[in-house]
Amino acid sequence: MIKIAIDGPGGAGKSSVAKLVAKKLGIVYVDTGALYRTIGYYVKEKGIDPKDAPSVVSCLPNIKIEVKFVDGTQKVFLNEEDLGDKIRTPEMSMYASAVSAIGEVRSFLLDTQRDIAKKNSVIMDGRDIGTVILPDAEVKIFLFASPECRAKRRYEELRAKGQDVSFEDVLREMNERDKNDSEREIAPAKPAEDAIMLDNSDLDLEGTADAIIAIVKEKTESK
Ligand code: C5P
Repeated sequence: MIKIAIDGPGGAGKSSVAKLVAKKLGIVYVDTGALYRTIGYYVKEKGIDPKDAPSVVSCLPNIKIEVKFVDGTQKVFLNEEDLGDKIRTPEMSMYASAVSAIGEVRSFLLDTQRDIAKKNSVIMDGRDIGTVILPDAEVKIFLFASPECRAKRRYEELRAKGQDVSFEDVLREMNERDKNDSEREIAPAKPAEDAIMLDNSDLDLEGTADAIIAIVKEKTESK
């Protein structure tokens, strides 16, 4: 069993690359951002301000989140409903970022994340995987790239999905979300002390996956 933690800001390509590495290594890819997005979605549906911590916390007992893997793809169910791409909009990114700053929300999702890693070899992506969720992960990588480069990737990804967004809006929202995520008091997005920093501004998807696999091999073979 192996645990690989991939943390880093939005648009660094964590999910695409982690998915590819999981396929190449035959392990499970876990997207933890989807869990925060799911809580954000519930809060939005109830018309609650995601920054209103007491109201968000009062919703938690009514939320049941289940993570299932169908043909190697993660599906997140909110009270038995598969939300699919409904959680993948820029609005849901902002909702996720707001609810994720609430300590009770983070504790609520802790066991779900750890349980998956107990039962499977995983590559898990998020913001606090190496620091909080899996501090004993064998490999920890902090993946990043310049803000313009990350916004360009996110912009192209959203346009490819048919979403009508402007580059300026994507860049602004990304910078705002990075600021929220890295400056929050609880579990701020930051590299673990023993994380390897990987700048993929000049690497494509395959190049980034190869760099990660090389790090995994070096770490596991030196043990
Ligand atoms: O990774 P993704 O963009 O889907 O994450 C959405 C938001 O969820 C992030 O901006 C961050 O605020 C939050 N998040 C987090 N901790 C994680 C994963 C995501 O706080 N492990």
